[in-house]
Amino acid sequence: MDGMATPNTYRGRLAPSPTGLLHLGHARTFWIAAQRAVRHGGTLVLRNEDLDPQRSKAEFVEAMLEDLRWLGIRWQEGPDCGGPHGPYSQSERREFYLSAWRSLKDQGFIYPCTCSRKDLAQAASAPNDTDDEPLYPGRCRSRTGAARFSAPAGVNWRFRVPDGEAVSFTDLHLGPQSFVAGRDFGDFVVWRRDDVPAYQLAVVVDDAEMRITEVVRGVDLLKSTARQLLLYRALGWTSPGCYHCDLVVDDSGVRLAKRHDALSIRHLREAGRTAESVRGQ
Ligand code: GLU
Repeated sequence: MDGMATPNTYRGRLAPSPTGLLHLGHARTFWIAAQRAVRHGGTLVLRNEDLDPQRSKAEFVEAMLEDLRWLGIRWQEGPDCGGPHGPYSQSERREFYLSAWRSLKDQGFIYPCTCSRKDLAQAASAPNDTDDEPLYPGRCRSRTGAARFSAPAGVNWRFRVPDGEAVSFTDLHLGPQSFVAGRDFGDFVVWRRDDVPAYQLAVVVDDAEMRITEVVRGVDLLKSTARQLLLYRALGWTSPGCYHCDLVVDDSGVRLAKRHDALSIRHLREAGRTAESVRGQ
């Protein structure tokens, strides 16, 4: 499948979240994304994933743009490049997400869930991954009344997954992948009670609307890709190809997180490392 996109039809994206400093894992993912776009003679879009008002900070937006530039990564839509669009910020795109929410609701794919965090914590089902969304136990699954909501705020909206169905795809780096809905992941949130569109929905809407042909992301998002394929199908949209990059771990084998300040691009740069050595890590 690799190389199927013809020159200039390839559209990739960089989708950093401004919730902390980018680290070595991001450097690898974004460098691979940039290289693949160049190799395909394609376009690379920058999308600032700043939907979470509690966690996103303006200072991290500045920092991530600067770090990406320092790494030698360039994107093609935005003021820097004279492009007509972008860089995009998810916080300015609510209308797109709302319209997808409406479509999913009207078709009966999603339902309002009033379970509290406490209800979920007390439910028997255990999280299926250390930092993944826990399997939803299903208490609100058969709730009716979605039609009377004209706006999403006030409840969590969950996508009803087709239990037992295998969601399969061929990853451009890792090969064939398959996850079973209802076992590997459960009914996931597409819109949060505090009126913030959830990651799974926003990213699908944006990748579709920005005509992204290939998504390059970390391997920690493999199961999210499976969830997102169900959303593409429900919304009647074509899904992009995907390339999941290997994990970067610290010296003790722990996956890097934004709390690993010592391994942030910023810190490594200040410590005298070259962009080339950071990209190649
Ligand atoms: N914004 C997400 C992150 O920084 C990545 C989204 C994606 O690649 O789908 O983890």
